Amino acid sequence: MAQVSLKDVSKFYRAGVPAVDSISLGVENKEFLVLVGPSGCGKSTTLRMIAGLEEISSGKIWIGNTLVNDIPAKDRDIAMVFQNYSLYPHMTVFENMSFGLRLRKYPKQEIERRVVEAAEILGIRSMLDRRPRQLSGGERQRVALGRAIVRKPQVFLFDEPLSNLDAKMRVQMRTEIHKLRMRLQTTFIYVTHDQVEAMTLGDRIIVMRDGKIQQCADPMTIYDKPANKFVASFIGSPPINLMQGRIIKKERKYFFDEGKFQVKIVEEMHKDVLSYVGKEVIMGIRSEDIYDKLFVSEASLETTVRAACEVVEPLGSEVYLYLNSGKNSFIARVGAHNRPDVNKDMDLVFDMSKVHFFDRETENTII
Ligand code: ADP
Repeated sequence: MAQVSLKDVSKFYRAGVPAVDSISLGVENKEFLVLVGPSGCGKSTTLRMIAGLEEISSGKIWIGNTLVNDIPAKDRDIAMVFQNYSLYPHMTVFENMSFGLRLRKYPKQEIERRVVEAAEILGIRSMLDRRPRQLSGGERQRVALGRAIVRKPQVFLFDEPLSNLDAKMRVQMRTEIHKLRMRLQTTFIYVTHDQVEAMTLGDRIIVMRDGKIQQCADPMTIYDKPANKFVASFIGSPPINLMQGRIIKKERKYFFDEGKFQVKIVEEMHKDVLSYVGKEVIMGIRSEDIYDKLFVSEASLETTVRAACEVVEPLGSEVYLYLNSGKNSFIARVGAHNRPDVNKDMDLVFDMSKVHFFDRETENTII
């Protein structure tokens, strides 16, 4: 078991264009850290540098107390699970799972013990004699996990392991990985572009963009206190509603003036927006923080917004309302029984204690 740390690590595939741009991070012993971000942001490259599959252009990487910059992949005591499973098609499940141990000349009995144990954990004990083509996608991914488990590595590295599975299997395997993690008590670094996987699996999440770390925190902090507009809009589904407008002050009150409506800013945020009075900012509000006024017992006019309801989308457990203020489109996620009239104006209530303000230039959260 081990911690992993990166100090100012960069990767240039082409001169002048960093794929990974001087990132520093620390993964605690037994922690499950998720690297998340859009395609091309440098997640896989970061993971592959930790694995030793990609050379580092600059910086330092430690696994445990060992500086591993010059240690080849096979000696780093890590195991990696890939998106495409990377199983040998001509080998059985048993042979695939035991391959690494046989290569390292483990005794036959020990190999057998470890493979059977891992196969039990993963529920593939009855499939040890099959070849990969006789398995479903989910089963193949279990074999790939099994091959990693039998090694008993210090660190597990996962590169989009669930991306090739259908939606249902992905949800199932996500829970399996969660259980596996509880059972194995090892350090995990997990790369995904899927924010739901990131939120549900990670003890901490690192959100990346253009080779840089945008924010590193536990899932709820990332969701409730995003560092900038990018993090706010990357995490959460449907994505956070963003509206451009101006901060104004009337008597002792501060408002966000969107152009078509004005909403009062809560007192706790006054100190944040003080220096933005008269300036353009971006306000972010999540769809679950907007309510149909009919269902709110006491709503102040100062947090009520009139908007046209363009589409009503019932999802069973909840309803999405697609709204338009005349200047901005936004989505509200309301209770299953809300059925407002389409193409009519309706009154919405904004929970102003939950909104975020972003600087228009830097796009950083205003605090
Ligand atoms: P992610 O995993 O977040 O999708 P990657 O780490 O794969 O992103 O890629 C980061 C950037 O580096 C991308 O712009 C990608 O095109 C580039 N890149 C990745 N691998 C190579 C490579 N082997 N050669 C050249 N460029 C690469």
